[in-house]
Amino acid sequence: MSFPAADFATNLEKWFATSQRDLPWREIANARDGYRVLVSEVMLQQTTVAAVIPFYHRFLARFPDARTLARAEIDEVLPLWAGLGYYSRARNLHAAAKAVMEKHGGIFPQNFEEVLALPGVGRYTAGAVCSIAFGQKVPIVDANVARVLARVLCLKGDVKSPKVQAQLWQSASELVNASTQPSNFNPAMMELGALVCVPKTPRCEACPVSDFCGAFKTNRQSEFPQFAAKKAHQQMHDVCVLFADASGVLLRQRSTENTARNWWKGMWELPRTTVLEGESTPAALGRLLAELNIQAEIGGCIKTLRHGVTTHAITLDCYEISDAKFENSAAQIFEWDETRKLAIPSTMRQLLDWYYSHRVVNEQLALL
Ligand code: SF4
Repeated sequence: MSFPAADFATNLEKWFATSQRDLPWREIANARDGYRVLVSEVMLQQTTVAAVIPFYHRFLARFPDARTLARAEIDEVLPLWAGLGYYSRARNLHAAAKAVMEKHGGIFPQNFEEVLALPGVGRYTAGAVCSIAFGQKVPIVDANVARVLARVLCLKGDVKSPKVQAQLWQSASELVNASTQPSNFNPAMMELGALVCVPKTPRCEACPVSDFCGAFKTNRQSEFPQFAAKKAHQQMHDVCVLFADASGVLLRQRSTENTARNWWKGMWELPRTTVLEGESTPAALGRLLAELNIQAEIGGCIKTLRHGVTTHAITLDCYEISDAKFENSAAQIFEWDETRKLAIPSTMRQLLDWYYSHRVVNEQLALL
């Protein structure tokens, strides 16, 4: 890259010193602790900064270091993650804490390859931990960094393609190597992408690296980054059954197997299944009840929720059931208060909250 990398890095770092957001994981005690950087980076994957902040505080209050997290059961960890989604992240973080205890004697590793070998840690996360916590000159490329670099360097081709990814990592590596503050350089690149070089209308007039930006100089900001045509979301139709009254609700725990689409491994939910291709909704409901050994009258659909997981667009219909018998079933009744302590996926939690506030509370009021 024939590019004034050192000047670029200096301008960016100066801007970051005065313009960065005040975020909890940037407090020095958190930013120089490998475990805490790992927690924040894992939480921030696929999740917005605003959504992560309360989870980050709660998680570190309960698990301030790898030792406390490693000692906990996964059932204690998942409830603190419920609502953040992508629960495999919590499982991997738990496994990473165990690996820190078992393979590194409780001392968080500083070697890049050793960090990379922790469960759930990829090149980006290992780079973030090693550069932010330990000041190493290792690159990171996330969506924000990719957008900035694609514009600065006018990179042509699908930004997610192996070819452009290789160019991005190579350029990020050269830039961080030219930096004098590697702990700040990578967060500064991400911050620039989040605050200034934003996807739709970049604020080039406020950009500290506009002098180095090819897209800005040629007025082609909207041409970069480039993306391949998007694949359509796969539609799914799920059904669940609800058996509840003022005292409690029937829930079952999902398996922990790594099967396709088992996105909520080991979490609790209203009994739920996907309507198979060519299967009718009543048949799917009947199959669900038979699989769980529940005998019940199936009533009407009381609520429909739509949500997305990875590339799937899911329509979830909730059917009320009555006269349920489930003595030999894996499903069991939980009191409403108890459900607060369970790891329940956010869409399911939304459904339970809706039912409780609309039905249960109204029934209780009617008795007064
Ligand atoms: S000058 Fe504009 S397009 Fe270029 S990096 Fe800065 S904000 Fe992005």
